[in-house]
Amino acid sequence: MPTFDYAPAPESRSVVDLSPSYGLFINGEFTEGTGSTFKTVSPATEEVLAEVTEASAADVDAAVAAARAAYTRVWSRMSGTDRGKYLYRIARILQERAREFAVLETLDNGKPIRESRDVDVPLAAAHFFYHAGWADKLDFAGLGTDPRPHGVVGQVIPWNFPLLMLAWKIAPALATGNTVVLKPAETTPLSALLFAEVCQQADLPPGVVNIVTGAGPTGQALVEHGDVDKVAFTGSTGVGKAIARSIAGTRKKATLELGGKAANIVYDDAPVDQAVEGIVNGIFFNQGHVCCAGSRLLVQESIAEEVEARLKRRLETLRVGDPLDKNTDVGAINSREQLDRITELAAAGEAEGAERWSPRCELPSKGFWFAPTVFTGVSQTHRIAQEEIFGPVLSVLTFRTPAEAVAKANNTPYGLSAGVWSEKGSLILWTADRLRAGVVWANTFNKFDPTSPFGGYKESGYGREGGRHGLEAYVRTGA
Ligand code: NAP
Ligand code: MG
Repeated sequence: MPTFDYAPAPESRSVVDLSPSYGLFINGEFTEGTGSTFKTVSPATEEVLAEVTEASAADVDAAVAAARAAYTRVWSRMSGTDRGKYLYRIARILQERAREFAVLETLDNGKPIRESRDVDVPLAAAHFFYHAGWADKLDFAGLGTDPRPHGVVGQVIPWNFPLLMLAWKIAPALATGNTVVLKPAETTPLSALLFAEVCQQADLPPGVVNIVTGAGPTGQALVEHGDVDKVAFTGSTGVGKAIARSIAGTRKKATLELGGKAANIVYDDAPVDQAVEGIVNGIFFNQGHVCCAGSRLLVQESIAEEVEARLKRRLETLRVGDPLDKNTDVGAINSREQLDRITELAAAGEAEGAERWSPRCELPSKGFWFAPTVFTGVSQTHRIAQEEIFGPVLSVLTFRTPAEAVAKANNTPYGLSAGVWSEKGSLILWTADRLRAGVVWANTFNKFDPTSPFGGYKESGYGREGGRHGLEAYVRTGA
């Protein structure tokens, strides 16, 4: 238990200039759109932040037409060196306006300011810097002879890392000479709209980036649009499958980054205190709204009791509350809908016989909140061991041998990420070799870098984002 309380340390929100309502960003300008509007709220307080336009099919059509014109007339003709200059410019503006982006992201998403300030925004800028460097070197990236862009890319992203997912999508697309229409998630549209301002500030040619806000139907209109050459989607496996079906038989290319249910394996020779930090970071970072979250802890039986006790002691010190407070570790759940889903799955965990535990913590009375939760005595068949919860809920399972750890880790329809904790390099490599997961972290967790490819196996999707592999998805080669 903490022996003292932290004084409040709220970040000022005055750096953010919220407009009461926002239009769509098409052809370099904010336009009204022909559809209806919806409100975006702060999940920490339920305060309405702004009214946002729901793009209709006609608006999506206008955005795709703008992207097509920009592709044909300007962007596909520009040299890589010149495209790179724009990307560098965007990266530098993101750095200059970092505080504004961090506060806005925290307001709209509910994540702690410490995370948006130290992770989301710097990594988004890093993605633009990294891809700026590639823009004039694509011939040397090992992608094949004469790599060329696809044309117009339709991109749809989720709400858990709104600006960062935008950067993962837009930076490689632009570096390779494609133009973009992007739809942010319904609950977190504001940082994408601020990014549209950055595009204006960088003098990006009109139509190269278009932002259409809206809900599922707007996303569907975009991915099904006949003049979109490639679809890049990050979101749930259910919607990913629907998209794969809808584009089957067309000439469209697609990358799908979907859900996960990662195993975090702790062997009995692991440095326990470090492992406990890694477990906490693995599942409670960003309220567990992380596709690659370490949501299944697999701990070797001989140290299970010790790990569990130290983990619980550590969780007692987590600070849950106001996301704008710089001392906050765990912020708000992004929406009521997501809170309901987490609540339902946690109840199922109890009903199926697992033991539920949460640290003592007072949750704010307004907004959407869920206390960090640990389930022990979980078995493989429990829903909380199989389904993605996408919240601050950890399921603890045990194992006796490395072979059992691997078998349990791979017993999932997903395969996005995994973690291994051990002192022995040989055991780490043996385990990593056998895990069917796109990313395996060793003695760490949730580390991201634009130079490193990220993506899934099985129902976690296909295609890679980041690194040289991520470029591949945005170019065609040969005839
Ligand atoms: P989601 O419901 O699939 O939504 C993702 C995006 O797709 C949103 O912009 C959504 O709009 C839009 N959408 C909904 N229905 C659509 C349709 N029929 N056609 C086209 N677009 C549609 O997922 P979510 O619940 O927001 O996000 C959480 C999921 O994303 C989790 O499963 C998580 O694992 C996954 N994720 C994966 C990665 C990765 O890299 N693998 C990264 C982050 C998150 P609305 O916002 O209006 O619903
Ligand atoms: Mg919101």
